[in-house]
Amino acid sequence: MRNISKNLIIWYSQFKRDLPWRNTSDPYLIWVSEIILQQTQVDQGISYYFNFIKTFPNIQSLAQANIDEVLNIWQGLGYYSRARNMYHTANVIVNSLNDKFPENFIELKKLKGIGDYTAAAIASFSFKEPIPVVDGNVFRVLSRLYGIFESTQTSNGKKTFYNKALDLIDQKQPDVFNQAMMEFGALQCTPTNPNCNLCIFKSICFAYNRGLISELPLKKQKIKKRERYFYFLHLIYKDTFFIEKRTSQDIWKLLHQFPLIESDSEISIDEIVNHKLWNKIFKNINPKINSNIVKKKHVLSHQIIHANFLKIEVPSTNEFIDKNLINIHLEDLNKYSIPRLIDRYLNDNK
Ligand code: SF4
Repeated sequence: MRNISKNLIIWYSQFKRDLPWRNTSDPYLIWVSEIILQQTQVDQGISYYFNFIKTFPNIQSLAQANIDEVLNIWQGLGYYSRARNMYHTANVIVNSLNDKFPENFIELKKLKGIGDYTAAAIASFSFKEPIPVVDGNVFRVLSRLYGIFESTQTSNGKKTFYNKALDLIDQKQPDVFNQAMMEFGALQCTPTNPNCNLCIFKSICFAYNRGLISELPLKKQKIKKRERYFYFLHLIYKDTFFIEKRTSQDIWKLLHQFPLIESDSEISIDEIVNHKLWNKIFKNINPKINSNIVKKKHVLSHQIIHANFLKIEVPSTNEFIDKNLINIHLEDLNKYSIPRLIDRYLNDNK
């Protein structure tokens, strides 16, 4: 075990990428980077990371910001609950924890949006607590190296991988060990075509020596995605249009969108114009929908959005329209955070 950790750390010192969040032990910066990287590729994450820490250089500035500013910086990254949780946690740390991150895994996990993975990363990278960070890269390396045929989707499987990583972790340099494991999975023991010929563990690797690389780790069971049908009403008055804020506990909470009619199956124009929301928005008028309906498919981790954008010219800004709608010019849109789906539509239909 000790040799594996030692060799892994030597490999890391030679081959690691120079990533901005690796040159710090500041828990705030590590937290920001880990949350951004949860669902984002490193290449895309770097620019968001720099932008985020330039705008909110420390926990105090994040806590004092307005949630809309935070969502604005996050725009395009998706999974906006990450940004809302960060904002909430920043306020808890500033208002109740004396501006300081808890210094251990157990206490870190009590904070909103900080699960096992992020707590282990902050605890080990910032405070050198020997807790393994087990992400997809680590699962892959361990399953191939040791021949672990357990699913990472079950709690028993997760425990097996965690315990194996715990056996391996370097007690004096848990931060470097964790970084090294993840980097090894990202650069050497990649999902397809791992670089086995030049691998330091070639002689002892279970999967390599038995020709089982494509079998390990066990494939994840596909989750059936929920299908949703969104009918966005792009209401146009002269050179302005209307948006509203999403407030319900759902995707894109607190982001802005066109007024929306949602259904769990496809619906006709007739059904749209007879929908109760349509009547609420338009009260006494019944404007015409432009026949050119733009369709876009937007795939998220657990759902597929079938979006339909309906252009509708309206005769007035205030007489007929729901008072909760915000009337804006396109050039003012950057003051509001919007889902990438709507951003894409607006870019394509300027
Ligand atoms: S030999 Fe191949 S499969 Fe085994 S650890 Fe190395 S890169 Fe991964």
